[in-house]
Amino acid sequence: MSKVKPPKSKGIPSKHLHARTTFLYQAATYLTLQTASNETANDLKTDDQAVPTHSPVSPTHSPLAIRLCSDLQQVSRKAQLRMSVDLKRTLCKRCNTVLVPGRTATHTVENMSKGGKKPWADVLVLKCTTCGGKKRFPVGAKKQSKKVQRKAASRETTSITSPNDTEQPDSAAQTSTELDSI
Ligand SMILES: [Zn+2]
Repeated sequence: MSKVKPPKSKGIPSKHLHARTTFLYQAATYLTLQTASNETANDLKTDDQAVPTHSPVSPTHSPLAIRLCSDLQQVSRKAQLRMSVDLKRTLCKRCNTVLVPGRTATHTVENMSKGGKKPWADVLVLKCTTCGGKKRFPVGAKKQSKKVQRKAASRETTSITSPNDTEQPDSAAQTSTELDSI
């Protein structure tokens, strides 16, 4: 009597949500670019020719684009979808604007080290022009390898060292404690 369940179709789980988030992102980016280009076109006109446009909250930003972005955030949170890093980095957390370099965001490289001598202290600062929110990404520093890889590396060093060597196990123990603290 029990119904035989149809075999689950193999494919991307929650594909419709992926499609939805992609659409929302693309629509938001398109609207942001449109608004930004309209703004530059208006700037070229003289003041007396200026036509009163349908006044959005902020002249350079489409409120619809911001709405779409907040929807995108909500969908990804509700469905626990992990947004790709590249996508996430182009969204402002504070005001949900799509960050387009040169239009809605500014790129600067900052170096807070003494006299800017350390090249690995370079930090890319992405500033949102709508709300002034900043995103900071280290660009000069080497990315730390994943914990699993670091553990594997430390295991290799311990296996290589001979038991007679007194110094190496100490350093290995030190690295392991460092790993635990992270
Ligand atoms: Zn912002």
